[in-house]
Amino acid sequence: MINRRQWLYGVGVMAGVGMHVGPLTGENPPAAEDAQSKKSPTPLDLSQYEPKSMLQVHETQVERAKFPVIDFHTHISVSAKAEKGVAISPDRQYLGTPQECLAVMDRKNIKVMVNLTGGYEKGLAEAVGKYDRAYPGRFLTFTEPSYSHFKESNYPQLQAQAIEQAHRDGARGMKILKTLGLYLRENITSGPLVKIDDPRFDPMWDACGQLNMPVAIHISDPAAFFTPTDRFNERYEELNNHPDWSFYGADFPSNAELIEARNRMMAKHPKTQFVTLHFGNFSENLQNVSENLDKYPNMHVDMAARIGELGRQPFTSKKFFDKYQDRILFATDATPHGDAFPQQVFNDQLYEIYYRFLETEDEYFYYAPAKIPPQGRWRIYGINLSDQILRKVYNENAARLLQI
Ligand SMILES: [Zn+2]
Repeated sequence: MINRRQWLYGVGVMAGVGMHVGPLTGENPPAAEDAQSKKSPTPLDLSQYEPKSMLQVHETQVERAKFPVIDFHTHISVSAKAEKGVAISPDRQYLGTPQECLAVMDRKNIKVMVNLTGGYEKGLAEAVGKYDRAYPGRFLTFTEPSYSHFKESNYPQLQAQAIEQAHRDGARGMKILKTLGLYLRENITSGPLVKIDDPRFDPMWDACGQLNMPVAIHISDPAAFFTPTDRFNERYEELNNHPDWSFYGADFPSNAELIEARNRMMAKHPKTQFVTLHFGNFSENLQNVSENLDKYPNMHVDMAARIGELGRQPFTSKKFFDKYQDRILFATDATPHGDAFPQQVFNDQLYEIYYRFLETEDEYFYYAPAKIPPQGRWRIYGINLSDQILRKVYNENAARLLQI
């Protein structure tokens, strides 16, 4: 018996010399055997593989979004100091100047950039001053919890008061990084992991609800990050490049456990609005996201850094956008000068890819401005949304939550 590869190889060789390829007889064609003994396949390192698509299909360049955009998820500033994944200083490090951001925003029809990682205390006040107050209407800044006080016995009250102070300082919402659930531990950087629905945070969630500050919450990560980094992992190259992104093993909870804890927490705080980032942190399973949106009326999703997932299931995505058109927010996770992560680098190309996905029926294009697709080796398809849905996703849904 011949195996499939030998047969295909034989066909290729015979077709190459113009021979007729007859029915498969079960015999190894003599031409294939000769060719194989002369030339064996050359091994190729996966990192060197950059196949050029031979597909010739229509390509649309969408330079500006059809309607003004609120990018609900960007990182213009980040914490200047973190230990084992936990930010421990209010000081900010700025990744891009307002002028740099505004130039891209004006070219790409971005009305507002929401900087989720504004920090807290003096760092927050400084970020609001440099961006929101200096350029009214163009930047909005979110606060983050301060975990450095976590061990203090009155932390629940202190943190709720910190939200009130942040609101007075100009914060428009609160951001939760995946620190909660995956990094924060009982002794901040050691001890057992703290759960997302830990009651010590209850007053904080309620304070956000009372002040109409939406909570942008990132829990979990792509499903493949919770499975072994081996030859079966669809994000092997990404995890190989960033081994610390794997949450497989150790004492990490599963993806399902993280999502369940988040759901219990949202159910407990129905008056607080939650934007579950990265498409509810389960864009590989839109059925799951859909069931949760049906169950929790205070849940919304943003699409940041997930068009690679949405665009590889265009039919399911389009139906989802149609059904939940009032609860999806445009977002990118854009980070100025974030060249190490092309799926979220803040530049013209990144926005053009998002607009192309939402506004066209283009087929089989890259989801990130990179030579090799950084989140897995596949390409995406546009979902060509209607004007009504585009308006809601681009700005109306975010404007309603942000009260602007
Ligand atoms: Zn982010």
